[in-house]
Amino acid sequence: MGWMMIPCSGNSNCKAKTKKKRKNKIELQDKPLDQIKPTSGFSKTSSILSVKEDPKDGGSDHIAAQTFVFRELAAATRNFRSECLLGEGGFGRVYKGRLESTNQVVAIKQLDRDGLQGNREFLVEVLMLSLLHHPNLVNLIGYCADGDQRLLVYEYMPLGSLDDHLHDVLPGKRRLDWNTRMKIATGAAKGLEYLHDKASPPVIYRDLKCSNILLGEGYHPKLSDFGLAKLGPVGDNTHVSTRVMGTYGYCAPEYAMTGQLTLKSDVYSFGVVLLEIITGRTAIDNTRGAGEQNLVAWARPLFNDRKKLSQMADPTLQGQYPQRGLYQALAVAAMCVQEQPNMRPVIADVVTALTYLASQKYDHETEPVQSSRLAPCTPPRTKRDSERKAQLR
Ligand code: AMP
Repeated sequence: MGWMMIPCSGNSNCKAKTKKKRKNKIELQDKPLDQIKPTSGFSKTSSILSVKEDPKDGGSDHIAAQTFVFRELAAATRNFRSECLLGEGGFGRVYKGRLESTNQVVAIKQLDRDGLQGNREFLVEVLMLSLLHHPNLVNLIGYCADGDQRLLVYEYMPLGSLDDHLHDVLPGKRRLDWNTRMKIATGAAKGLEYLHDKASPPVIYRDLKCSNILLGEGYHPKLSDFGLAKLGPVGDNTHVSTRVMGTYGYCAPEYAMTGQLTLKSDVYSFGVVLLEIITGRTAIDNTRGAGEQNLVAWARPLFNDRKKLSQMADPTLQGQYPQRGLYQALAVAAMCVQEQPNMRPVIADVVTALTYLASQKYDHETEPVQSSRLAPCTPPRTKRDSERKAQLR
C-alpha cells in the first residue's frame, strides 16, 4: 500500500489542537507496520482514498475520530471488567463503557497485543472508518495508541450483532420476523453499496458475516469490523491479489482458491448472509448431516426446484412470510452465490431488489401463513456461548 492520511481529533480528548493539526496524521508508508505510529496532522486532499459525499448519507458533517489515552478507556470500562464484556472477535475483546468526559456510552475494542496483524488491523480500521461515513456503517468515535495498547472506540450498538438474533438466540428472546429480516438485509446491502460505489478507489470489505452486522434501535443495521478491508482495483485492473483472509463459509470460491479479490467477492459473502437471514441456518454447521453442513452447497440444488423453496424458510418464522417475497429473496441470494463472479449482480442491483422487497410489508394478521412451518426441521441449535452471554446482558 502507498500512504494515506486521516483526520484526527479536534475534541477535548485529543492532545493536538487546531494549530498542530498538520502533524496529526497516520501515515501508512512502505515501512514496517510496527514502526508506524499515529502522529499529528491532517490532509484529506492528499489521501489516496476519497469518498463521494451524499447529503442523504449525512454529508460531511461527521465528527472526526478522537484520540484517547489508555487511562480514559480503562476508567470507561472500569478496568475492562468482565461484566462489561460485549463479545470477542478475531482481533480482541469488545467492552461496553461510558466516557467520563461526555458521559457517552460506547463500545471499546481492545486489540490483542500479538504484534503485526493486530497493528495492521488497527491501522486499517482507523484509516477506513475515519474517511467512510454512512448510516449503515458503524461510527468510529476514536482510538487509543498508547504504548503498546491499541484500542478502538465505537458508537454502542444496543441490539448486538445479527448473529445474536439469528443464531445465538437467548431463550425467551423474540425471533426476527420477516419484515425485520428484509430491513436488515437491505441496510447491510446499502452499507456495502457505499463502500463499492462511493469510495474511490472502491473498498472491498472482505469480512461480511452476521457477527459483523451490528444492530441499533429499531434493528437498524450497520457494518462493523473493517480491519480486513482492502482498497479495490484501480484503472483497468479487475482484481487485487492478496493473502486469503476472511471467514470460512463466507469466502467466495475463486478468492479462496486464487487470492484474487474483487468487489464480487463481497457480493458472494452478502449472498451467504442473505441465505442465513432467510433460512436461519449458519454458513457452516458441523452439527448437521453430510450435504447440509455448508449452507451454499445445501441451498444450490434447492434453488432449482420451486416446490422445495418453501422448505428453505427458517422454521422459526412459523410460516409467517410472504410466499412471493420468499421466492424473490431466494432468487437474489442464488444470484449472489453463483460460482462465476461475473454472473453475480453488482451490489447496487441487489440494493434495488431488496429495497423493493423490504417495502412489501408482510402482515401475519391479514396474509396467509405458509405451510413451510410443517416442513421437517432440525430443532433450534444449542447456543454456542449462552452461559457467557447470559451473564453479560
Ligand atoms: P468484533 O471483534 O468487531 O467482531 O466484535 C465482537 C462482538 O462484540 C460482536 O459480535 C458484537 O457482539 C460485539 N460488538 C462489537 N462492536 C460492538 C458495538 N459497537 N456495539 C455493541 N456491541 C459490539
